[in-house]
Amino acid sequence: RRELNEKNRDIRVLRAPVICVLGHVDHGKTKILDKLRRTNVQEGEVGGITQQIGATNVPAEAIANQTKMVKPAFSIDQIDFPGLLIIDTPGHESFSNLRSRGSSLCDMAILVVDITQGLEPQTIESIELLKKRKTPFVVALNKVDRVFEWEGNQHKDIKEVVQAQAEFAKNDFERRVKEITIRLNEQGLNAALFYENPDPRTYVSLVPTSAITGDGMGNLIALICTMCQAKLAPQLRYSEELQCVVLEVKTIQGYGTTIDVILVNGRLREGDNIVLAGTEGPIVTQIRSLLMPKPLKEIRVKGSYDEFKEIKAAQGVKIAAKELDKAIAGLSLRVAQHEDEISVLKEVVHKDFTLAMKAIKVK
Ligand code: GDP
Repeated sequence: RRELNEKNRDIRVLRAPVICVLGHVDHGKTKILDKLRRTNVQEGEVGGITQQIGATNVPAEAIANQTKMVKPAFSIDQIDFPGLLIIDTPGHESFSNLRSRGSSLCDMAILVVDITQGLEPQTIESIELLKKRKTPFVVALNKVDRVFEWEGNQHKDIKEVVQAQAEFAKNDFERRVKEITIRLNEQGLNAALFYENPDPRTYVSLVPTSAITGDGMGNLIALICTMCQAKLAPQLRYSEELQCVVLEVKTIQGYGTTIDVILVNGRLREGDNIVLAGTEGPIVTQIRSLLMPKPLKEIRVKGSYDEFKEIKAAQGVKIAAKELDKAIAGLSLRVAQHEDEISVLKEVVHKDFTLAMKAIKVK
């Protein structure tokens, strides 16, 4: 199994790391994602950020644009992957339930903590999930603009912004960071502001951010990229071995019931025979269309898609096929290369499903 894995890996090509955003409700997960998308709208297609199915694709060029204020300067030459693929559905319930077992979809996570609220129940649940899956993560100390008399500046490195605060603001900020650090310690995590981190291998980095003013967002992106390069490069080697997870099941006008998937590795082709979990047992069907949203400027009618013959990882993709009404989100999708593989894959999918159900019951 391992041998097969290694053989399939192309050592020259890294795929985009898949990034998830987690945290307690109202701490700003959606707003952080919005911030990325709004940049997109403002800059038109120039930045090259594209919204995909269930994910946002932030290419290297856009990363370079968004990290200009970072000091010491962050250069895109430091990374060997084509960009980041950020999952758009934070806290999708059925998804996080099913996902909590087995291999992780995300290569790295952003744990959003409202700096004025600190750790709350879902923050702690998220930490437990990340620990269990051994997913590396950074903490966005969000809503830093709410710190008493905070003077923001999204065009500056966040360390400089912190240092430039008047005494009241600085004291308030430091008190909150200290409090959150202690709470993280109680969860068994060493943590430090990213620019004071004594050992990134054993300390979680805290990045002050404001999803409203944009403070610290560049630092957050640069840090994620640096960490992905340092920690994950081998894991990010593109592999032809399919790794594909169903994110959502949706009915779309003109296509019937479709599934939105995140293709982490490998490729999907029109006409592929796929096997996936359904409420009444494994579903076997054939990909009728592989869809991705049209580039923003071409979208006149909401919900218009381009069709593809083949799509290569890592991407968010919509699949149209028959028999998808009873599909279940959160589990892997498999492709049968030959007819006789179908029965084996049905068993694999059934096993995935049973294990996931057991995991939910135990919880
Ligand atoms: P989610 O439930 O974690 O997705 O949180 P949202 O992104 O929906 O944010 C919850 C509320 O906090 C909304 O009213 C946001 O406008 C607000 N919010 C999010 N981020 C920030 C921030 O950085 N600063 C301030 N002042 N408000 C924020």
